[in-house]
Amino acid sequence: MIDNLPPLREVIRAHDLRAKKSFGQNFLLDLNLTARIARVAGDLSGTDVLEVGPGPGGLTRGLLAEGARRVLAIEKDARCLPALAEIAAAYPGRLEVIEGDALAVDALAHLTPPIKIVSNLPYNVGTELLIRWMTPDQWPPYWDSLTLMFQREVAERIVAKPGSKAYGRLALMVQWRADAKIALHLPPEAFTPPPKVSSSVVHITRLQEPRYPADARVLERLVAAGFNQRRKMLRASLKGQHPQIEALLEQSGIAPTARAEEIGLEAWCRLARAIAG
Ligand code: SAM
Repeated sequence: MIDNLPPLREVIRAHDLRAKKSFGQNFLLDLNLTARIARVAGDLSGTDVLEVGPGPGGLTRGLLAEGARRVLAIEKDARCLPALAEIAAAYPGRLEVIEGDALAVDALAHLTPPIKIVSNLPYNVGTELLIRWMTPDQWPPYWDSLTLMFQREVAERIVAKPGSKAYGRLALMVQWRADAKIALHLPPEAFTPPPKVSSSVVHITRLQEPRYPADARVLERLVAAGFNQRRKMLRASLKGQHPQIEALLEQSGIAPTARAEEIGLEAWCRLARAIAG
């Protein structure tokens, strides 16, 4: 028992919250598990937490029971609001629920730093939100850490190292300005209904400054071009990036015949600096 509220199966029955595919709904009903996920985010006392897609509130309850100062939960499915209101009543002043699309809501207007983001994301918007959170106009961003559920295959792309099949834009974009690790793997049966694939919780802690200097836009453009044609040699895939690309690759210590997946973060940043002049 992490709180005095009814078990989630009862909540779902009482509010008729049958999971809908269109909302990407796979619920976590084990409150010990949701409290464990909340703990991955570290000490939450004195921290505001943004949760996207609370659904019936399993993870929300985990976050509150683990001591979050405040939780801001953004949920698109209006059917979930009465269940979430019961949680808000049990934790006075600590849970604010916004009905809406997380891609459209200005969450920061409702949050006070320090801020952590913890979500069991709908898979269809998960990668898009991660990219937005990782590419703000200013660095450091408004959040200190992201603790997010992904399909295992996406989680592996986030933490991938050079030379592996999973290594690409997502790994570079995250690892350039943050530490990323997989905190736990969950089998399909952990969810109701079970999805087709396994899931993983990824914990991402932002760095104060990028690991190596580079212009974010130049780096992003280069990496996108390199991995769009990942089977090609860099002198071919990056041809459109600069008239003297071969010379700049060599100057950056990268063999023009190498492929994108062989190049580590530091070398990508060196090349981005060389291109930016
Ligand atoms: N957090 C709950 C849990 O762990 O049991 C539910 C997780 S379920 C995978 C994803 C939740 O995100 C659903 O409740 C769904 O309605 C909600 N959702 C889907 N798209 C959304 C969006 N664009 N903005 C906010 N919530 C969304």
